[in-house]
Amino acid sequence: MSKLKYQTLTGMHDILPDDFIYFNRVLRAVESVARYYGFSRIETPVLEFAEVFAKGTGAGTDIVEKEMYTFRTKGGDLVALRPEYTPVIMRSYLEHGMHNLPQPVKLWYQGPCFRHERPQAGRYRQFNQFGFEVLGEQKASVDGQIIQMSYGVMKELGFKNITIEVNSIGDSECRPYFKKILTSYFKSRRSALCPDCQRRLKENPLRILDCKEEKCQRVKAGAPQIIDHLCENCHKHFKNVLEFLDELELPYSLNPYLVRGLDYYTKTVFEIVENSEDGKTQGTLMGGGRYDGLSKILGGRDVPACGVAGGMERIMNVLKTKGILRAEKPESKKAQEQKQEDAKIFLAQLGEMAKRKSMKLFEEFRAAKIPIAESFSKDSLKAQLRSADKMGAKWVLIFGQKEALEDFITLRDMETGAQKEIKLDKVVEEMREKLNSIKK
Ligand code: AMP
Repeated sequence: MSKLKYQTLTGMHDILPDDFIYFNRVLRAVESVARYYGFSRIETPVLEFAEVFAKGTGAGTDIVEKEMYTFRTKGGDLVALRPEYTPVIMRSYLEHGMHNLPQPVKLWYQGPCFRHERPQAGRYRQFNQFGFEVLGEQKASVDGQIIQMSYGVMKELGFKNITIEVNSIGDSECRPYFKKILTSYFKSRRSALCPDCQRRLKENPLRILDCKEEKCQRVKAGAPQIIDHLCENCHKHFKNVLEFLDELELPYSLNPYLVRGLDYYTKTVFEIVENSEDGKTQGTLMGGGRYDGLSKILGGRDVPACGVAGGMERIMNVLKTKGILRAEKPESKKAQEQKQEDAKIFLAQLGEMAKRKSMKLFEEFRAAKIPIAESFSKDSLKAQLRSADKMGAKWVLIFGQKEALEDFITLRDMETGAQKEIKLDKVVEEMREKLNSIKK
């Protein structure tokens, strides 16, 4: 058969009706997790000023240097097809003065991205990303929540063999010094590096850690590790993040050489990978981290932030090839919306340990499909009770220091002010009964 004259461009693909079964499944999982955690959807134009990425993603990154679809418009503007969302979400936050809203601002998105990459398995030139971003909060609990949500999406889709790789890459205080140490390590082994990495040695030695060439991997194996050189602030933050992950019982592993190829990351970075039994892997399914410096790079105020992006096609491919697709019907959108509005229970927490444990409890309520509201970013009980009151919660579950130590929770009836203690492993059941009793 002769080849058709018109086909999709190299690296681009149609999403056919049969594929949409998978596409919609992924989207619904993302949407349901986002909704449950109180994230609002945002969409931005596919075209942006190229500078948003040149500055935000970083001029020396592969994405900007080699992969971006950039062109000049008839009006003379230098624009680019969005290669990723994160700098754009920050651009939008700053442009729309979202710092005036109650912080943090929690956003999710889904849409097409474009990168002129070398086509290979799981790598397209147009692909769909989804993501969760929390802007305006520096606490480690946010990093924990983002990682939990990423894992939650995978679980919702029925993935079993998932690993979360985590690292901290420090910040502007500790990273420059580490870069120096790393440079001197690689300099003495320069001839063992690939030509690209020899160049990277001058520009940014951290990128060498990202190189997939076998010879560079060998050199990397003995390289100094940034976790040994974190400043006090970054060290404390990372420790806190890991405590959250432990408490949430997430299957993570430390990867001291995980850096991620983008310039804006600070402190936490992580990736979610599928452990393929047959050796055929789609690569990273989701990746993210903290990007406290991005706002200033884009000329804005100080906005600490953390987020994650996942690839729809890569996840769809695994769902398809491995036959992972849960049989039960997803909930209707309306039912989910109803859930968020109907939360009658508010989860309040006091102190670090209680916060970690309450995030786990929150997940248990989600698994039991019982809507509850939270305010993990607020520390004072008063402020949390005020939020609970404002949203008309009937009950508040108070998780304080004593409760966390002794594994119980204090239940407060917001109408009568009466309080009682419930053992932690009975909370979900008891609250289900309470909800059922008011429905009758
Ligand atoms: P990144 O923005 O590079 O961290 O990518 C986030 C996620 O998007 C990755 O974990 C992949 O799942 C997906 N992704 C990135 N680049 C591509 C691509 N060229 N084709 C398909 N998916 C991609």
